[in-house]
Amino acid sequence: MNRELRPSVIPLGISGALVDAQHENSYLAVEQEGRYWLVDCGGNAMGRLQRAGLDPLALQGLIITHFHPDHVYGLPAFLLGLYVMGMQRTYPRQQPLPIYARPKVLERVIALLELFEYQGWLKALPLSYREIAPQAGVKVAQDLSFKITATPTHHSIPSIGVRFTSLQHKNAFAYSSDTLPCFEVEELARDATLLFHEGEGAMHGHSTPADAGALATRAGVERLVIIHYPVKNGEQVLQDVQSTFAGPVELAQEFKRYYF
Ligand SMILES: [Zn+2]
Repeated sequence: MNRELRPSVIPLGISGALVDAQHENSYLAVEQEGRYWLVDCGGNAMGRLQRAGLDPLALQGLIITHFHPDHVYGLPAFLLGLYVMGMQRTYPRQQPLPIYARPKVLERVIALLELFEYQGWLKALPLSYREIAPQAGVKVAQDLSFKITATPTHHSIPSIGVRFTSLQHKNAFAYSSDTLPCFEVEELARDATLLFHEGEGAMHGHSTPADAGALATRAGVERLVIIHYPVKNGEQVLQDVQSTFAGPVELAQEFKRYYF
């Protein structure tokens, strides 16, 4: 398939919880033919989407994996930006903009937006809150490009991993978000073309890079990218993951396109 028509993942931030001067917290766009989904919103999404060459108004929907600040803090400002850009007046945004998350996470998202009294300034940009049931492999949504599924993971609070399966050629991208290494993510990533797995380290509710590599090996993943890792220790992270995964692996880079 023509490269430009193939789906791709573009990390807009790659850092673990502690950012440095060069990076943002982990969140990413999943794109095909200019249309994109945003998974988490932990930074300057409006600016970074444009730097990545994406039209912010081509957003199909938002998926929030969990309600830790490094994954959601940019959301109110991003929605404000979409409103100021006039998303509510553009085709195909005649439907409410969908925000998908687990029920408890949606409650927090709504509370976060209510802090800013968004019903006033966002009245013209209607939002639609869509619950993701906490079941392995549950369907989230489908558009012209992807079938999206999710799976609950093992983090310190309710969280999900997500999988985008191309409707054209069945290739799949899976993303662990924050989690301990677990069978649920292994199943989510089964035979995926591309897996983004976190590598925060031996912390409560997280995975080490070696855990991520071992999981990718068990799942039969073609290509592994480590995200949400301590950016100051990149070289060590790469060595650790290579000890358990023999296939192609790299550290996520902001703005790089990962085709799948
Ligand atoms: Zn987290």
